[in-house]
Amino acid sequence: TVIPITDLEKLNVLGHGNGGTVYKVQHKRTSEIYALKLVHGDSEPTVRRQVFREMEILRRTDSPHIVRCDGIYEMPSGDIAILMEYMDLGTLDTLLQRNGTFTESALADVARQVLSGLSYLHSHKIIHRDIKPSNLLVNNKMEVKISDFGVSKIMCRTLDACNSYVGTCAYMSPERFDPDAYGGNYNGYAGDIWSLGLTLFELYVGHFPFLPPGQRPDWATLMCAICFADPPSLPETASEEFRSFVECCLQKESSKRWTVAQLLSHPFVCKDPCL
Ligand code: ADP
Ligand code: MG
Repeated sequence: TVIPITDLEKLNVLGHGNGGTVYKVQHKRTSEIYALKLVHGDSEPTVRRQVFREMEILRRTDSPHIVRCDGIYEMPSGDIAILMEYMDLGTLDTLLQRNGTFTESALADVARQVLSGLSYLHSHKIIHRDIKPSNLLVNNKMEVKISDFGVSKIMCRTLDACNSYVGTCAYMSPERFDPDAYGGNYNGYAGDIWSLGLTLFELYVGHFPFLPPGQRPDWATLMCAICFADPPSLPETASEEFRSFVECCLQKESSKRWTVAQLLSHPFVCKDPCL
């Protein structure tokens, strides 16, 4: 059952993104609360493309650690909207601002849930490409869910490609069908792991790892630090297990970086004997 968009009442703004606005909305009859991401018809083509990408991904994902999509709307005016479950505690970024740094056990919980979401995405050949505290949503059950798929990439388009290019399909090279398996874009998935490592790091120390606290991130300094400096390591206060976990995520060479499956059995997230 699709909820008609006219049945939704805007309550307030939850966040502004690049181009779109996310509103807290209420279903007039059921009183159920949702989040609605709205992009105006007159917005830039790149912004529209991003929302369409996000719609395409949310439409096909179904995981307890990926934000649930409850409706997709394309209005005659050109406006586009995505209805999502409302995550009442906001993002990990807002939690950091509001409550300060996270404890290790809270972060182990975060890591476990984000890994579970990433495991779903990677096994469905989707790379998120924008994992960071402000794209990880939280609710009062302390469930953490991945959101914001505007710059994500779907690696395997075999079926789509075949359906839309019936005549030429037979002549497509292996890497066009499955770039992942044939080396077309080997490092794609590992990028999400790097971002997860930086995210946990930031939530533990309270500032972005490559910069001293309070420094405004200017793009050139940041790029130099990321490319030329050693990866940051956690302070001595962190446990051996946590330090090791972050180190596995922050391997500069992507082939040495651990995969989701490997990380899921790391002692930091898997205290009980892992199978
Ligand atoms: P953008 O691509 O513009 O960054 P996001 O999807 O990240 O868009 O949403 C922007 C902000 O809106 C988020 O950082 C968050 O604060 C808020 N938000 C987005 N989705 C939800 C949701 N389902 N529940 C609660 N808040 C949300
Ligand atoms: Mg975002």
